[in-house]
Amino acid sequence: MGNLEGLKAAAQRAVDRRRVWLASVVDAALDSPETGFREFRTARLVGEKLAELGVRAQNGIAITGMKGYLDGGSPGPTVAIIGEMDSIRVPGHPKADPETGAAHACGHNAQLGMMLGAAAALSEPDVLSALSGRVALMAAPAEEFIDVEYRWGLRQEGKLGLLSGKQEFIRLGAFDDVDMAMMVHTSASPGDSRFSGGGTNNGHLVKYVRFLGRAAHAGGSPHRGVSALQAAMVALNAVNTQRETFRQDDAVRLHGIITSGGDSANSVPADVRYEGRVRGATLDAIEDAARKMDRCLRAGALALGGQVEIVSIPGYLPIRHDAGLLGVFRDNAVKLMGASGFAEHPTDRVRGGSTDMGDVSQILPAIHPYTGGAVGMGHGADYAVRDYEQAVIRPAKVMAMAVIDLLANGAARGMETLARSRPPLTKAQYLELQQSRLNEETYEGR
Ligand SMILES: [Zn+2]
Ligand SMILES: [Zn+2]
Repeated sequence: MGNLEGLKAAAQRAVDRRRVWLASVVDAALDSPETGFREFRTARLVGEKLAELGVRAQNGIAITGMKGYLDGGSPGPTVAIIGEMDSIRVPGHPKADPETGAAHACGHNAQLGMMLGAAAALSEPDVLSALSGRVALMAAPAEEFIDVEYRWGLRQEGKLGLLSGKQEFIRLGAFDDVDMAMMVHTSASPGDSRFSGGGTNNGHLVKYVRFLGRAAHAGGSPHRGVSALQAAMVALNAVNTQRETFRQDDAVRLHGIITSGGDSANSVPADVRYEGRVRGATLDAIEDAARKMDRCLRAGALALGGQVEIVSIPGYLPIRHDAGLLGVFRDNAVKLMGASGFAEHPTDRVRGGSTDMGDVSQILPAIHPYTGGAVGMGHGADYAVRDYEQAVIRPAKVMAMAVIDLLANGAARGMETLARSRPPLTKAQYLELQQSRLNEETYEGR
């Protein structure tokens, strides 16, 4: 049984020794951004780095995902440390891939450094042998819920069930042997300047929508066509009329993009596609807003006499941070940085964005704290991870130290944390819930 402080000091020294190595991984991922379920280069990079730590990871989980283990000296609970691999698309970002527009404008590249840094710390022989249990190292694909048509296509081909990385990890059983899970996300918000946690994130429902009309010569015989683009415009204006109907506390957001606005200007657009999002703080709020959005989408088709196909795809569930686990994380953040090192958000604070860590948090104790170290606008063209100490090194140390608290001393604190946690759903209930949110509708406005 190791001395906790001695083990934590050894863990921190191990992260410090890997500073250059970790920065090179973070930079390599930054230079090679890939969107969800296409992170093949990133997965290869992470796989190589895990191998350098002596971890043989299983790859190809949910197409590009990976999972490996560090086995402690004796049996006990399994704690997952997760890093996300995907980027979003922000074509104006200086590090954007010129062909795809993919850019790490959410800092997931830093998460890979954090996860590998924690892995390096915990794989120190003296540390690892003092742990009772295992650490599951996960590289998760596709957290950003984008490219919905592509993902829906993968689902139709049977390559995906649920359409985000951690959702699919759950479905495929990658979390079946995991008792607790943690990750840290970078932030550029002033309120997250060091570490922060608590509150919740919005959940969401995803819409893949096709407005269908009739093609005709746009100059010669527009009267014989049905414009799917006009239908979409009526629908989106109708969506805007709903905004004043939402309760402030529900943090509802309706938004989306037209992914295809027609095929040629000379032809009345007959196929217009929209990828939409319905976000809210609770499932009831999301359901209410989604019903309203569907009404508006139908209204567009009705007004023009066209058709609309609405696919509702199960998005993310609101996150719940496990109090015990967050406490362990907070204690170590404070140990590393002093009392101002961790800001706890009130439980009723809702972040407008969403994460599939929310789904994980509904079935097992999980946390998704934030760390500073980034600058610019999240998902914007100027987002950058600037301070590697705060964005990579310290989160790696704090996660490693938290795992030591949970799994050293016979995993007493880990067992206590587990005994106190009350995740609301079993995996089976989660899958049933998500299945019930899936719906396909064709509405005839003719
Ligand atoms: Zn993001
Ligand atoms: Zn993110």
